[in-house]
Amino acid sequence: MNKPLLPGALVNGQPATLGVMGGGQLGRMFVHAAQAMGYFTAVLDPDTASPAGLVSHHHVQTDYLDEQGLAQLIQRCAAITTEFENVPAPALVTLGAHRPVAPSADAVAIAQDRALEKAHFVRCGVPVAPHAVIATPAQLAAVSADLLPGILKTARMGYDGKGQIRVKTAQELADAWAQLKNVPCVLEKMLPLKAECSVLVARGADGQMVNFPVQLNLHREGILAVTTVTEGAVPTELADKAVAATRAIAEGLNYVGVLCVEFFILEGGQLVVNEMAPRPHNSGHYTLDACDQSQFDLQVRTLAGLPLTQPRQHSQAIMLNLLGDLWPEGGSPAWDQVLALPGTHLHLYGKLSARPGRKMGHLNITGATPEAVRTTALQAAALLGIEAL
Ligand code: ADP
Ligand code: MG
Repeated sequence: MNKPLLPGALVNGQPATLGVMGGGQLGRMFVHAAQAMGYFTAVLDPDTASPAGLVSHHHVQTDYLDEQGLAQLIQRCAAITTEFENVPAPALVTLGAHRPVAPSADAVAIAQDRALEKAHFVRCGVPVAPHAVIATPAQLAAVSADLLPGILKTARMGYDGKGQIRVKTAQELADAWAQLKNVPCVLEKMLPLKAECSVLVARGADGQMVNFPVQLNLHREGILAVTTVTEGAVPTELADKAVAATRAIAEGLNYVGVLCVEFFILEGGQLVVNEMAPRPHNSGHYTLDACDQSQFDLQVRTLAGLPLTQPRQHSQAIMLNLLGDLWPEGGSPAWDQVLALPGTHLHLYGKLSARPGRKMGHLNITGATPEAVRTTALQAAALLGIEAL
Protein backbone atom coordinates (compact mmCIF):
# COMPACT_ATOMS: atom_id res chain seq x y z
CA MET A 1 0.00 0.00 0.00
CA ASN A 2 1.44 3.38 -0.93
CA LYS A 3 -0.70 5.78 1.03
CA PRO A 4 -1.84 4.94 4.57
CA LEU A 5 -5.52 4.33 5.16
CA LEU A 6 -6.11 6.98 7.79
CA PRO A 7 -8.42 6.13 10.69
CA GLY A 8 -11.83 7.71 10.38
CA ALA A 9 -11.30 8.63 6.71
CA LEU A 10 -13.99 8.30 4.05
CA VAL A 11 -13.20 6.03 1.12
CA ASN A 12 -15.59 6.53 -1.82
CA GLY A 13 -18.09 7.94 0.64
CA GLN A 14 -17.83 4.91 2.97
CA PRO A 15 -16.11 4.92 6.38
CA ALA A 16 -12.61 3.41 6.12
CA THR A 17 -13.21 -0.31 6.73
CA LEU A 18 -10.75 -3.09 7.54
CA GLY A 19 -11.66 -6.69 6.78
CA VAL A 20 -10.64 -9.99 8.32
CA MET A 21 -10.97 -13.53 7.02
CA GLY A 22 -12.12 -15.67 9.92
CA GLY A 23 -14.30 -14.88 12.90
CA GLY A 24 -12.51 -16.55 15.82
CA GLN A 25 -11.13 -14.88 18.93
CA LEU A 26 -8.10 -13.49 17.11
CA GLY A 27 -10.43 -11.81 14.62
CA ARG A 28 -12.51 -10.48 17.50
CA MET A 29 -9.51 -8.85 19.17
CA PHE A 30 -8.39 -7.43 15.79
CA VAL A 31 -11.88 -5.94 15.38
CA HIS A 32 -11.71 -4.42 18.86
CA ALA A 33 -8.33 -2.81 18.10
CA ALA A 34 -9.47 -1.52 14.68
CA GLN A 35 -12.67 -0.06 16.10
CA ALA A 36 -10.82 1.60 18.97
CA MET A 37 -8.89 3.57 16.32
CA GLY A 38 -12.07 4.53 14.48
CA TYR A 39 -12.08 2.04 11.62
CA PHE A 40 -15.17 0.17 10.59
CA THR A 41 -14.74 -3.58 10.31
CA ALA A 42 -16.02 -6.50 8.27
CA VAL A 43 -15.60 -10.19 9.13
CA LEU A 44 -16.06 -13.11 6.75
CA ASP A 45 -17.00 -16.29 8.60
CA PRO A 46 -19.71 -18.88 7.92
CA ASP A 47 -20.68 -19.16 11.62
CA THR A 48 -23.69 -17.04 12.71
CA ALA A 49 -22.29 -16.70 16.22
CA SER A 50 -18.58 -16.27 15.45
CA PRO A 51 -16.72 -14.33 18.19
CA ALA A 52 -15.56 -11.66 15.71
CA GLY A 53 -18.77 -11.54 13.68
CA LEU A 54 -20.67 -10.72 16.88
CA VAL A 55 -18.73 -7.48 17.44
CA SER A 56 -18.03 -6.33 13.86
CA HIS A 57 -19.87 -3.60 11.94
CA HIS A 58 -20.37 -6.08 9.11
CA HIS A 59 -20.47 -9.85 9.12
CA VAL A 60 -20.33 -11.55 5.74
CA GLN A 61 -21.72 -14.93 6.61
CA THR A 62 -20.51 -17.23 3.84
CA ASP A 63 -17.96 -19.93 3.23
CA TYR A 64 -14.35 -18.74 2.77
CA LEU A 65 -14.37 -19.57 -0.93
CA ASP A 66 -17.85 -18.23 -1.69
CA GLU A 67 -17.48 -15.81 -4.61
CA GLN A 68 -20.30 -13.55 -3.52
CA GLY A 69 -18.97 -13.44 0.02
CA LEU A 70 -15.50 -12.51 -1.18
CA ALA A 71 -17.00 -9.89 -3.51
CA GLN A 72 -18.89 -8.35 -0.60
CA LEU A 73 -15.74 -8.22 1.50
CA ILE A 74 -13.88 -6.53 -1.38
CA GLN A 75 -16.71 -4.03 -1.83
CA ARG A 76 -16.81 -3.12 1.87
CA CYS A 77 -13.11 -3.09 2.74
CA ALA A 78 -10.10 -0.97 1.88
CA ALA A 79 -7.66 -3.66 3.10
CA ILE A 80 -8.02 -7.23 4.37
CA THR A 81 -6.15 -9.46 6.84
CA THR A 82 -6.59 -12.98 8.16
CA GLU A 83 -6.86 -14.46 11.61
CA PHE A 84 -6.18 -18.15 10.96
CA GLU A 85 -3.57 -19.79 8.78
CA ASN A 86 -5.86 -22.34 7.21
CA VAL A 87 -7.89 -19.78 5.28
CA PRO A 88 -7.87 -21.22 1.73
CA ALA A 89 -5.00 -19.64 -0.21
CA PRO A 90 -7.18 -19.15 -3.36
CA ALA A 91 -9.50 -16.90 -1.33
CA LEU A 92 -6.55 -14.66 -0.43
CA VAL A 93 -5.46 -14.63 -4.07
CA THR A 94 -8.95 -13.45 -5.12
CA LEU A 95 -8.97 -10.75 -2.44
CA GLY A 96 -5.40 -9.75 -3.25
CA ALA A 97 -6.31 -9.05 -6.88
CA HIS A 98 -8.56 -6.21 -5.71
CA ARG A 99 -7.33 -4.99 -2.34
CA PRO A 100 -4.15 -4.91 -0.26
CA VAL A 101 -4.07 -8.22 1.65
CA ALA A 102 -1.65 -8.70 4.54
CA PRO A 103 -0.16 -11.19 5.08
CA SER A 104 0.06 -12.15 1.42
CA ALA A 105 -1.34 -15.37 -0.02
CA ASP A 106 2.26 -16.51 -0.67
CA ALA A 107 3.35 -16.10 2.94
CA VAL A 108 0.22 -17.81 4.24
CA ALA A 109 0.69 -20.70 1.79
CA ILE A 110 4.16 -21.35 3.25
CA ALA A 111 2.94 -21.16 6.85
CA GLN A 112 0.10 -23.58 5.99
CA ASP A 113 2.48 -26.35 5.05
CA ARG A 114 5.00 -27.74 7.55
CA ALA A 115 7.27 -28.98 4.78
CA LEU A 116 7.43 -25.60 3.00
CA GLU A 117 7.72 -23.83 6.34
CA LYS A 118 10.73 -25.93 7.40
CA ALA A 119 12.38 -25.37 4.02
CA HIS A 120 11.94 -21.62 4.53
CA PHE A 121 13.52 -21.77 8.00
CA VAL A 122 16.48 -23.68 6.59
CA ARG A 123 16.82 -21.07 3.80
CA CYS A 124 16.94 -18.38 6.48
CA GLY A 125 19.73 -20.23 8.31
CA VAL A 126 17.65 -21.00 11.41
CA PRO A 127 18.15 -24.49 12.93
CA VAL A 128 15.15 -26.87 12.65
CA ALA A 129 14.50 -30.31 14.19
CA PRO A 130 15.92 -33.20 12.11
CA HIS A 131 12.99 -34.24 9.93
CA ALA A 132 11.82 -35.98 6.76
CA VAL A 133 8.87 -35.34 4.48
CA ILE A 134 6.64 -38.41 4.06
CA ALA A 135 4.28 -38.07 1.12
CA THR A 136 4.89 -41.39 -0.66
CA PRO A 137 5.45 -45.04 0.40
CA ALA A 138 9.01 -44.75 -0.94
CA GLN A 139 9.69 -41.78 1.36
CA LEU A 140 8.24 -43.78 4.26
CA ALA A 141 10.53 -46.71 3.50
CA ALA A 142 13.55 -44.42 3.24
CA VAL A 143 13.12 -42.81 6.68
CA SER A 144 16.32 -42.92 8.71
CA ALA A 145 16.17 -44.70 12.08
CA ASP A 146 17.88 -41.59 13.50
CA LEU A 147 14.52 -39.79 13.37
CA LEU A 148 12.95 -42.21 15.88
CA PRO A 149 11.43 -41.80 18.34
CA GLY A 150 9.68 -38.99 16.55
CA ILE A 151 6.43 -37.13 15.98
CA LEU A 152 4.54 -37.60 12.75
CA LYS A 153 2.65 -34.39 11.89
CA THR A 154 0.29 -33.79 8.98
CA ALA A 155 1.89 -31.20 6.70
CA ARG A 156 -1.34 -29.22 6.57
CA MET A 157 -4.26 -28.29 8.83
CA GLY A 158 -2.70 -29.26 12.20
CA TYR A 159 -3.22 -27.07 15.27
CA ASP A 160 -3.26 -27.41 19.07
CA GLY A 161 -1.55 -30.81 18.80
CA LYS A 162 -4.17 -32.16 16.37
CA GLY A 163 -2.96 -34.22 13.41
CA GLN A 164 0.10 -35.48 15.33
CA ILE A 165 1.08 -38.98 16.41
CA ARG A 166 4.14 -39.89 18.48
CA VAL A 167 5.99 -42.96 17.16
CA LYS A 168 8.85 -45.05 18.51
CA THR A 169 9.44 -47.69 15.83
CA ALA A 170 9.28 -48.03 12.04
CA GLN A 171 6.14 -50.15 12.45
CA GLU A 172 4.45 -47.51 14.63
CA LEU A 173 5.43 -44.92 12.03
CA ALA A 174 3.83 -46.93 9.21
CA ASP A 175 0.67 -47.45 11.30
CA ALA A 176 0.53 -43.77 12.22
CA TRP A 177 0.84 -42.68 8.59
CA ALA A 178 -2.04 -45.02 7.69
CA GLN A 179 -4.05 -43.59 10.60
CA LEU A 180 -3.44 -40.10 9.18
CA LYS A 181 -4.86 -41.44 5.88
CA ASN A 182 -1.45 -41.30 4.12
CA VAL A 183 -1.72 -37.54 3.63
CA PRO A 184 1.59 -35.68 3.21
CA CYS A 185 3.31 -35.55 6.60
CA VAL A 186 6.52 -34.45 8.24
CA LEU A 187 8.27 -36.78 10.66
CA GLU A 188 10.26 -34.87 13.26
CA LYS A 189 12.77 -36.31 15.63
CA MET A 190 11.55 -36.07 19.24
CA LEU A 191 13.79 -33.49 20.88
CA PRO A 192 14.56 -33.13 24.60
CA LEU A 193 12.80 -29.86 25.39
CA LYS A 194 13.77 -27.71 28.34
CA ALA A 195 11.25 -25.03 27.43
CA GLU A 196 9.37 -23.38 24.57
CA CYS A 197 9.26 -19.74 23.60
CA SER A 198 7.86 -17.54 20.85
CA VAL A 199 8.50 -14.17 19.27
CA LEU A 200 6.07 -11.79 17.58
CA VAL A 201 7.16 -9.27 14.99
CA ALA A 202 5.17 -6.76 12.98
CA ARG A 203 6.46 -5.70 9.57
CA GLY A 204 5.11 -2.97 7.35
CA ALA A 205 4.88 -2.92 3.56
CA ASP A 206 7.85 -0.50 3.62
CA GLY A 207 10.00 -3.14 5.37
CA GLN A 208 9.96 -1.43 8.76
CA MET A 209 9.90 -4.08 11.51
CA VAL A 210 9.33 -4.06 15.26
CA ASN A 211 9.24 -6.89 17.78
CA PHE A 212 7.73 -7.79 21.13
CA PRO A 213 9.78 -9.34 23.95
CA VAL A 214 10.30 -13.13 23.93
CA GLN A 215 7.46 -15.14 25.46
CA LEU A 216 8.02 -18.29 27.51
CA ASN A 217 5.26 -20.82 26.77
CA LEU A 218 3.98 -23.85 28.64
CA HIS A 219 1.84 -26.30 26.66
CA ARG A 220 -0.44 -28.97 28.11
CA GLU A 221 -1.70 -31.73 25.86
CA GLY A 222 -0.50 -29.81 22.80
CA ILE A 223 -2.44 -26.65 23.74
CA LEU A 224 -0.87 -23.46 25.05
CA ALA A 225 -1.64 -23.22 28.78
CA VAL A 226 0.54 -20.45 30.22
CA THR A 227 2.67 -17.65 28.77
CA THR A 228 5.16 -15.87 31.01
CA VAL A 229 6.84 -12.63 30.02
CA THR A 230 8.80 -11.56 33.06
CA GLU A 231 12.34 -10.27 33.53
CA GLY A 232 14.83 -13.10 33.29
CA ALA A 233 12.28 -15.73 32.23
CA VAL A 234 14.29 -16.33 29.03
CA PRO A 235 18.07 -15.81 29.26
CA THR A 236 19.11 -12.69 27.31
CA GLU A 237 21.43 -14.48 24.90
CA LEU A 238 18.72 -16.97 23.86
CA ALA A 239 16.14 -14.22 23.64
CA ASP A 240 18.39 -12.17 21.34
CA LYS A 241 18.91 -15.21 19.11
CA ALA A 242 15.18 -15.90 18.93
CA VAL A 243 14.40 -12.29 18.00
CA ALA A 244 17.13 -12.24 15.32
CA ALA A 245 15.85 -15.55 13.87
CA THR A 246 12.25 -14.30 13.79
CA ARG A 247 13.28 -11.10 12.06
CA ALA A 248 15.24 -13.09 9.46
CA ILE A 249 12.24 -15.37 8.86
CA ALA A 250 9.90 -12.39 8.37
CA GLU A 251 12.41 -10.57 6.16
CA GLY A 252 12.90 -13.71 4.04
CA LEU A 253 9.15 -13.85 3.36
CA ASN A 254 8.99 -10.13 2.61
CA TYR A 255 6.25 -10.42 5.19
CA VAL A 256 3.63 -7.75 5.85
CA GLY A 257 1.60 -8.04 9.05
CA VAL A 258 2.07 -9.72 12.43
CA LEU A 259 4.06 -12.96 12.46
CA CYS A 260 4.67 -15.32 15.38
CA VAL A 261 7.52 -17.83 15.40
CA GLU A 262 7.62 -20.64 17.98
CA PHE A 263 10.88 -22.13 19.23
CA PHE A 264 12.10 -25.05 21.28
CA ILE A 265 14.82 -24.51 23.86
CA LEU A 266 16.64 -27.84 24.16
CA GLU A 267 18.06 -29.39 27.33
CA GLY A 268 21.53 -28.45 26.06
CA GLY A 269 20.46 -24.81 25.66
CA GLN A 270 20.25 -24.78 21.84
CA LEU A 271 17.47 -22.89 20.09
CA VAL A 272 15.48 -24.74 17.40
CA VAL A 273 12.62 -23.22 15.43
CA ASN A 274 9.33 -25.15 15.59
CA GLU A 275 6.70 -23.41 13.49
CA MET A 276 5.25 -20.03 12.56
CA ALA A 277 1.79 -18.48 12.53
CA PRO A 278 1.04 -15.75 9.95
CA ARG A 279 -1.10 -13.77 12.38
CA PRO A 280 -1.29 -12.65 16.00
CA HIS A 281 -0.84 -15.55 18.38
CA ASN A 282 -2.26 -16.93 21.61
CA SER A 283 1.15 -16.42 23.25
CA GLY A 284 0.90 -12.68 22.46
CA HIS A 285 -2.34 -12.01 24.30
CA TYR A 286 -0.44 -10.59 27.30
CA THR A 287 0.42 -7.61 25.06
CA LEU A 288 -3.18 -6.41 25.45
CA ASP A 289 -2.51 -5.44 29.07
CA ALA A 290 1.27 -5.45 29.54
CA CYS A 291 2.52 -3.47 26.53
CA ASP A 292 1.90 0.06 25.28
CA GLN A 293 0.64 -1.47 22.02
CA SER A 294 -0.92 -4.88 21.59
CA GLN A 295 -0.24 -7.38 18.83
CA PHE A 296 -3.68 -6.48 17.44
CA ASP A 297 -2.87 -2.76 17.40
CA LEU A 298 0.17 -3.59 15.30
CA GLN A 299 -1.89 -5.83 13.00
CA VAL A 300 -4.16 -2.82 12.38
CA ARG A 301 -1.19 -0.53 11.73
CA THR A 302 0.51 -2.90 9.30
CA LEU A 303 -2.75 -3.42 7.43
CA ALA A 304 -3.54 0.29 7.23
CA GLY A 305 0.03 1.22 6.25
CA LEU A 306 0.51 3.31 9.40
CA PRO A 307 3.92 3.81 11.03
CA LEU A 308 5.21 1.21 13.49
CA THR A 309 7.02 2.05 16.69
CA GLN A 310 8.83 -0.46 18.85
CA PRO A 311 6.31 -1.66 21.48
CA ARG A 312 7.31 -1.28 25.12
CA GLN A 313 6.38 -3.77 27.83
CA HIS A 314 5.41 -1.71 30.85
CA SER A 315 4.34 -4.52 33.19
CA GLN A 316 5.52 -7.98 34.07
CA ALA A 317 2.96 -10.46 32.79
CA ILE A 318 1.60 -13.98 32.95
CA MET A 319 -1.27 -15.18 30.76
CA LEU A 320 -3.44 -18.14 31.70
CA ASN A 321 -5.43 -19.69 28.89
CA LEU A 322 -9.04 -20.40 29.85
CA LEU A 323 -10.23 -23.64 28.27
CA GLY A 324 -13.78 -24.95 28.36
CA ASP A 325 -12.72 -27.56 30.92
CA LEU A 326 -12.84 -24.85 33.61
CA TRP A 327 -16.55 -24.16 33.14
CA PRO A 328 -18.89 -25.88 35.60
CA GLU A 329 -21.96 -27.48 33.99
CA GLY A 330 -24.42 -24.68 33.19
CA GLY A 331 -22.42 -22.09 35.15
CA SER A 332 -19.36 -19.83 35.12
CA PRO A 333 -16.00 -19.93 36.88
CA ALA A 334 -15.78 -17.72 39.98
CA TRP A 335 -14.77 -14.54 38.14
CA ASP A 336 -15.77 -12.38 41.11
CA GLN A 337 -13.10 -14.07 43.23
CA VAL A 338 -10.50 -14.03 40.46
CA LEU A 339 -11.05 -10.34 39.72
CA ALA A 340 -10.54 -9.52 43.40
CA LEU A 341 -6.85 -10.33 42.84
CA PRO A 342 -4.61 -7.35 41.87
CA GLY A 343 -3.68 -6.85 38.20
CA THR A 344 -6.11 -9.37 36.73
CA HIS A 345 -7.58 -8.68 33.28
CA LEU A 346 -10.26 -11.04 32.02
CA HIS A 347 -10.82 -11.54 28.29
CA LEU A 348 -13.69 -13.80 27.21
CA TYR A 349 -14.42 -14.46 23.56
CA GLY A 350 -18.22 -14.58 23.63
CA LYS A 351 -18.43 -18.33 22.95
CA LEU A 352 -21.72 -19.65 24.22
CA SER A 353 -20.90 -23.28 24.85
CA ALA A 354 -17.87 -24.44 26.83
CA ARG A 355 -16.43 -27.71 25.53
CA PRO A 356 -13.28 -29.36 26.90
CA GLY A 357 -10.20 -28.00 25.11
CA ARG A 358 -12.14 -25.07 23.59
CA LYS A 359 -10.41 -21.70 24.00
CA MET A 360 -13.01 -19.62 25.86
CA GLY A 361 -10.81 -16.74 26.92
CA HIS A 362 -7.63 -15.82 28.74
CA LEU A 363 -6.67 -14.12 31.98
CA ASN A 364 -3.78 -11.66 31.92
CA ILE A 365 -2.06 -10.94 35.18
CA THR A 366 0.14 -7.85 35.32
CA GLY A 367 2.31 -6.48 38.07
CA ALA A 368 5.47 -4.60 38.98
CA THR A 369 7.70 -7.61 39.67
CA PRO A 370 8.01 -11.22 38.43
CA GLU A 371 7.32 -12.44 41.98
CA ALA A 372 4.13 -10.39 42.29
CA VAL A 373 2.61 -11.67 39.04
CA ARG A 374 3.63 -15.22 39.84
CA THR A 375 1.98 -15.08 43.26
CA THR A 376 -1.23 -13.71 41.78
CA ALA A 377 -1.16 -16.20 38.89
CA LEU A 378 -0.86 -19.09 41.34
CA GLN A 379 -3.81 -17.77 43.34
CA ALA A 380 -5.90 -17.33 40.19
CA ALA A 381 -4.96 -20.79 38.94
CA ALA A 382 -5.98 -22.32 42.28
CA LEU A 383 -9.35 -20.53 42.20
CA LEU A 384 -9.98 -21.68 38.63
CA GLY A 385 -8.82 -25.26 39.06
CA ILE A 386 -5.90 -24.81 36.64
CA GLU A 387 -2.95 -27.07 37.35
CA ALA A 388 -0.19 -25.09 39.13
CA LEU A 389 2.24 -23.27 36.81
P1 ADP B 1 0.66 -27.38 16.66
O1 ADP B 1 0.55 -26.88 15.26
O2 ADP B 1 -0.44 -28.29 17.03
O3 ADP B 1 0.91 -26.27 17.66
P2 ADP B 1 3.43 -28.16 17.15
O4 ADP B 1 4.29 -28.67 16.06
O5 ADP B 1 3.73 -26.81 17.68
O6 ADP B 1 1.94 -28.31 16.65
O7 ADP B 1 3.47 -29.21 18.34
C1 ADP B 1 2.71 -29.06 19.52
C2 ADP B 1 3.59 -29.29 20.74
O8 ADP B 1 4.16 -30.62 20.72
C3 ADP B 1 4.82 -28.38 20.80
O9 ADP B 1 4.48 -27.12 21.35
C4 ADP B 1 5.76 -29.19 21.67
O10 ADP B 1 5.40 -29.10 23.04
C5 ADP B 1 5.49 -30.62 21.22
N1 ADP B 1 6.42 -30.98 20.12
C6 ADP B 1 6.22 -30.78 18.81
N2 ADP B 1 7.27 -31.20 18.06
C7 ADP B 1 8.17 -31.68 18.93
C8 ADP B 1 9.49 -32.29 18.77
N3 ADP B 1 10.06 -32.45 17.57
N4 ADP B 1 10.13 -32.70 19.90
C9 ADP B 1 9.55 -32.54 21.12
N5 ADP B 1 8.33 -31.99 21.33
C10 ADP B 1 7.64 -31.55 20.25
MG1 MG C 1 2.55 -25.06 17.93
